[in-house]
Order: sequence, then C-alpha cells, then structure tokens
Amino acid sequence: MKTYVLKDENERELKLLDETIEKIKREKLPSILKIQQAILRSVDDYMYKNGVVRLLPNMISPITDPLCHSVEDCDFTYGGQKFNVTKSMIFHKQLALSNPYLQKIYIVSPNVRLELPERGDVRHLFEFTQVDFEFKDATMDTVFGFMEGLIEQAFCYIKEECKEEFKKLGVGTSHLDVSGPFERHTTQELKAKYGEDFEALASKEATRPFWLINHKREFYDAEDLENKGTYKNYDLIWPMGYVEGLSGGEREYNYDRIITRMREAGMDEQSMKDYIELAKRGEIPKTAGAGFGVERMTRFVCQQDDIDEVTVFSRKPGKGKYIF
Ligand code: ASP
Ligand code: MG
Repeated sequence: MKTYVLKDENERELKLLDETIEKIKREKLPSILKIQQAILRSVDDYMYKNGVVRLLPNMISPITDPLCHSVEDCDFTYGGQKFNVTKSMIFHKQLALSNPYLQKIYIVSPNVRLELPERGDVRHLFEFTQVDFEFKDATMDTVFGFMEGLIEQAFCYIKEECKEEFKKLGVGTSHLDVSGPFERHTTQELKAKYGEDFEALASKEATRPFWLINHKREFYDAEDLENKGTYKNYDLIWPMGYVEGLSGGEREYNYDRIITRMREAGMDEQSMKDYIELAKRGEIPKTAGAGFGVERMTRFVCQQDDIDEVTVFSRKPGKGKYIF
C-alpha cells in the first residue's frame, strides 16, 4: 500500500482512486469471488431440493426492519409517501407466508444498514447480502436442522469445487469439515463463563460453528412465555473468532403479543400501523426463520481477517469517503 502525505482535497481524491483500483486489482479477488459463487450455487440448490420457494428482493418499502441498534436513517419520499431502503425483509417474509399455499420461502436480499462509524470493525458492512429464509409453523429446531444441513452441503461442495482457489489463497479446508448437530449454548451460560465479551471469546475458542440461543433482540422474535424474559431466538456463531454469521428466531405473530413487545421496545406504532392492523386481523402466520450474511460466510470460508477483503468495492463503515 502506498503512503501519501495529504496536501489538499485533490490529493485525498487521488489517494482514494488509487486505493479503490488497488482493491479491485487484488490477485486473490477472483478466488474469493469464485468461492462465494459456489456458496450461493449450493445454497440455491439446497433451497430448491428442500422446496424452499425463492422470492425476489424488494429494495424499498414503507416498512422495514427497525433493528435493535442504531443506524443512520435511510428514508425518502416517493409519490408523496415515505419509503425506507430495506434493512431486512423480515416483515415481507412473514406476510408472504400468509399465502396458504406457500410453506417455505427465501430471498437473496440486498440489505442496506447505514452503520455508524464505530461499526467499522472486521465484520460489518453498511450494505450486504443476506440469505433470508422463513418457514411456516416451524420451530427453532426446524431451523437448526435446516441450517446445519445447508452448511454441511455447501462446505462439502466448495471443498471439492474450489480446490484451486483455496490453494491460491493459501488457505486449508479443515475448517469446512463440519456436520450437525451444532452445539447449543445460551447467552446466559456463555456470559457466566466468559463475561461480557462472551461472543468473541467463545467464538475464538470454538473449532466448529455453534448456536447462541436467547438474547433480547427486535420485538418480532418470540418471547418464551413459559420462561418470561427469555427468547426463542438464536445466532449462529462462526468459530475461530469469526463471530456472528446468522440471526433468527421463532416469531411473535399474535396481535396482543406483537403490541406488548412493540410497547416494551418503545416502538413508533404509527409507522407500523398497517402491520399492526394485519396482525389484528390474524394475517401474520406462525413462522420461524433466519438470515445469514453472504459476505460473512465467505469471510469465514476464505479465512479472511477483514470482511472488507471479500468485497470488490469497500462498504466498510467509518471510512469517511467512498468513490464507488
Ligand atoms: N431480520 C433478521 C436480521 O436481519 C434476520 C431474521 O431474524 O430473520 O438480522
Ligand atoms: Mg444479528
């Protein structure tokens, strides 16, 4: 990487241009992209074989995931109506399944989350692609088994298919020898063992992916009513320090529960009024699902230190300026 002494704005722009071109021309990029393509091919194949119907993504909508952490707002007006750029298609997943003839769906979904600069770490992008799936009448166990099968199939496929690419990257493939069921740990259990930084520490110690169960997230993840204050949700944690790779849960679908959870979370009910009305009419089916980040999976599979290394164009938060 060249070093520059910045004299003026013009020089800063030139440095950005150079950095952008250097990033695009990296020798390892084609290998990373081929492996990512193989992942997506295997994911599509697995979905198809398992009767999971593919929906195309919606990139804008009057309603999107409120998320449980702050991001910069990304709304705009179209036809006099307020729209948002898709943060995740969680509500679309739920609503689509109100079709009585649809049972299982997925979307390869571009998600825009304008993360604050402090999220400029090794695992966040302010625009990424999520494989987002949802099943009607499913439970956590259904999702666990499904995802374990998906990972097993995808990793097996790419190990065979991308031998040359792994060689070029100088990366072995023993981290891809995984099969389910993955271990399950609750947030409380790991907190007691590792303290506040439990996710990172447990991930560092692990050699296989594991499920992290029960943490308070968005209002739409179901609370376990037999154990109030605990939640039927989960993250999949990549091992070897690669941390979170998937989030999901059984969902709240009952009107009273949705309202209770929204109020607890201090949500703006007015902006969600149509969703609330549909819930009142009983149109939100009972579902469970999850979404996993494609770039995060690629980062783990390719054993790259920083998620920024798996993208062609930088989408790392907090860089100040982007030219492409
Ligand atoms: N909507 C969640 C997310 O994007 C994923 C899910 O719960 O399905 O984090
Ligand atoms: Mg998450």
